[in-house]
Amino acid sequence: MDGDLVFRILLLALFIPGMGTRVYYGRKQQVQGKKRSVRERYRDATQAEGKLRFALLAIEGVYLVIATIIYLLALPSMLWTRLPLPDWLRWFGFGLGIVSLPFLIWVHQPLGKYWSPSLELKGDHALVTTGPYSRVRHPLYTAQMAYFFALTLVSANLLLLVSFLFITIFIITRIPKEEKTLLEQFGDEYRVYMKRTGRLLPRFRPEAGEEDPVDARKRRFD
Ligand code: SAH
Repeated sequence: MDGDLVFRILLLALFIPGMGTRVYYGRKQQVQGKKRSVRERYRDATQAEGKLRFALLAIEGVYLVIATIIYLLALPSMLWTRLPLPDWLRWFGFGLGIVSLPFLIWVHQPLGKYWSPSLELKGDHALVTTGPYSRVRHPLYTAQMAYFFALTLVSANLLLLVSFLFITIFIITRIPKEEKTLLEQFGDEYRVYMKRTGRLLPRFRPEAGEEDPVDARKRRFD
């Protein structure tokens, strides 16, 4: 049997629920925002994100689907896209994908209607600090990066590696913008929240409720 067939099946097993989650919450958001016209929705989505980044995000979505189909079809003309990864690493990738999928779903529960594929603030936007957000400010981005990394490892394919690198750069460059927007919107509430949470992973020091080390140092000199 074609050794790669197993990994193609494993990739599909990760790809379908991952995309299903994205489509489900995307549609839910569309229904919630139905009161706005398409033009208003486009304006809201591009305002904070910028038109270029908005377009890049759309292109990445289409690219990912095409790259996955090319890998699944195992076209002989595309064999040059194979990466020489050992099987154990590809299985590790599958494990990572299986772990990241529930996280992708979990973050949507507390974030609810405030989730959006592009950077935007809703009219009645409130700061969510529950569930995974009680420890981490960007749990969805952590889960997304883990998921895309998992797809790359399982497929051992250059086209999916490009997709992972793209999404990682996109997220890393978005976080400062997103935090700036949230700081402007929520002020001290977000500042305090930043002190007790980690950006992409939980912060272990200082513990929640403990004094920030910079503040403590300042206090000693006061
Ligand atoms: N960065 C978050 C959310 C991604 S969805 C994560 O990785 O989990 C993107 C939208 O979520 C942005 O438009 C932003 O306005 C909103 N957002 C980010 N953090 C939020 C929070 N703690 N509470 C409410 N909305 C938030």
